[in-house]
Amino acid sequence: MERLSILSEDQVRAVQREFGTPTFVYDQKALESQAQKALAFPNAYGLTVRYAMKACPSAGVIRILNRAGLHIDASSGFEIERAMRAMDLNGAGVPADQIQLTAQQLPDDSDLADLVRQGVLFNACSLHQLETYGRLFPGREVSVRVNPGLGSGHNNRTNTGGTAASFGIWHEHLDQMLATAAKYNLQITGLHSHIGSGSNPEVWQNCARLTLDVAAKLPEVQCVNLGGGFKIGRMADEVSTDLCEAGQPVADEFIRFAREHGRELHLEIEPGSFLVGNAGAIVCSVIDVVDTGQEGYSFIKVDSGMTEVLRPSMYGAQHPTVVVPATPEERGQDEYLIAGHCCESGDTLTPGSSDPEELVPRLLTEPRIGDAVFIGGSGAYCAGMAAKNYHSFPEAREVLLGTDGKFHELRRRQDPDQIVANESLPAQLRVQRIAQPVAQQVVQGHGRKNGQARHDHQPPSRRVAARPS
Ligand SMILES: *Cc1c(COP(=O)(O)O)cnc(C)c1O
Repeated sequence: MERLSILSEDQVRAVQREFGTPTFVYDQKALESQAQKALAFPNAYGLTVRYAMKACPSAGVIRILNRAGLHIDASSGFEIERAMRAMDLNGAGVPADQIQLTAQQLPDDSDLADLVRQGVLFNACSLHQLETYGRLFPGREVSVRVNPGLGSGHNNRTNTGGTAASFGIWHEHLDQMLATAAKYNLQITGLHSHIGSGSNPEVWQNCARLTLDVAAKLPEVQCVNLGGGFKIGRMADEVSTDLCEAGQPVADEFIRFAREHGRELHLEIEPGSFLVGNAGAIVCSVIDVVDTGQEGYSFIKVDSGMTEVLRPSMYGAQHPTVVVPATPEERGQDEYLIAGHCCESGDTLTPGSSDPEELVPRLLTEPRIGDAVFIGGSGAYCAGMAAKNYHSFPEAREVLLGTDGKFHELRRRQDPDQIVANESLPAQLRVQRIAQPVAQQVVQGHGRKNGQARHDHQPPSRRVAARPS
């Protein structure tokens, strides 16, 4: 059986009662302690830690980590906007020069130029991106992302290096890269590689070595960024990366490089999961309990699922789940699958490990409708990545468990107006429906008389307006 983290049983019940479900909870203490661990990453000649904010782009989380001394890795122009808007009382968000853009899709030329003029750092992830930057800012310094030819993610969906990954400039295309840099008089002072999730120190050493081999061919490089991908254990039987262990051989490689090439390189890392993954959880509720007979399964249905946490459906990711009875009491245990609230058989919280096709029942406390369910390890790639508004379920609330021991709202729950706020109905759809032949109307109205069937076809806006709020 998995156990609670971050919250006690009483706190889970308090969240359920005070904020409703589903609600994300982030633990300030855990965020700050992970930030300290990342800042202690072994290094030879200086370290900058960037928070890969796509893991959890909530302004509250960005503020906590930036205040702890972390810079930002942004994966789109829109993320940069969000980081800059995570402001303190003086109206200061994350300073532009603490944000580096490493993106698959660049902002439009004029937006990109504007961001760079404000001080945002640019990491070119392809030859085309390098060309774009050179055209806009000839003669400047730039960082480049390379694919060093090695990946360490645990499957093809999380691997971000090697021949199957499209990220970064392939290490055999350095000549083209240098030609583009020369064409625009760019100085390549930063080198970046991010090869995916892993906890194995040998893989980190290998990655550092391959990246430094590239740095050896780029004489102006002063800073090497090894990306993120420090694996964290969410389940009791999974291991988390020991950063000291992963970092020591990396620091050794930098020292060796300095001896051989006379350059003392600054190190950057940019963790996402490591910082926020286990600092967040979802509190949801049991909405139904069903079974499929003696040969089948027992299912717990919850008021959450792929609308808040998509990782199990996408990668077969494992999240610890704990049933918390609505009032404290002793209960038996049994094996259950947990299903989300979407009409998708893939909306499951209990897939096989790394195999979303498989269903693996878990030993859980016997559930009753109305109990709370705690979904741990939900700080990273959940709130920011979920199937938002699928089934028109509103985006969930986010709260912070502060170091003062109190809960503070970070984002309220979306209300139904916000879901449809950007929709419009063209005039041609607002005109009265053209009457259909009588026979067809009867079929569509499930046998009701014309008058009743027509009642069902009121425009939705009128029905919403008539509903008591
Ligand atoms: C997503 C991402 C990260 C963070 O990855 P984690 O596995 O969450 O640590 C770091 N760098 C880049 C470029 C990324 O795209």
